[in-house]
Amino acid sequence: MTVGDAVDDTDKEERCPPWCVADHQHQGNADQRWHYSACVELPLVELAPLGGVPGEKLVDTAVAFDVALERPWGSTTAYVLLGVGSERVRTFCLTLESAERLVAAVQDAVRVGKRSA
Ligand SMILES: [Zn+2]
Repeated sequence: MTVGDAVDDTDKEERCPPWCVADHQHQGNADQRWHYSACVELPLVELAPLGGVPGEKLVDTAVAFDVALERPWGSTTAYVLLGVGSERVRTFCLTLESAERLVAAVQDAVRVGKRSA
């Protein structure tokens, strides 16, 4: 065993946040681990090209939208995961502050849109 092979003590000291539901035994080494919460799956409707084909007529389309918390292993910073589509073809991992700004902007846009509908 060389110095580079030394056991990483951060593995043993890492504590899951109260919202973590991850099975870390199956995530591999420390650099492959992360904490994640249960996922809220929102069935949403978006305006998208028919059949997902770019350039096609835009129609209301069902889309699965996942919201969860994630925290990298060894970090104290939590992020809000926004995953779009059943295979999460589009994802965002926002800081809590960014998620708050996004929610506020969405609320403002919805309020204005409803007022002028
Ligand atoms: Zn965890």
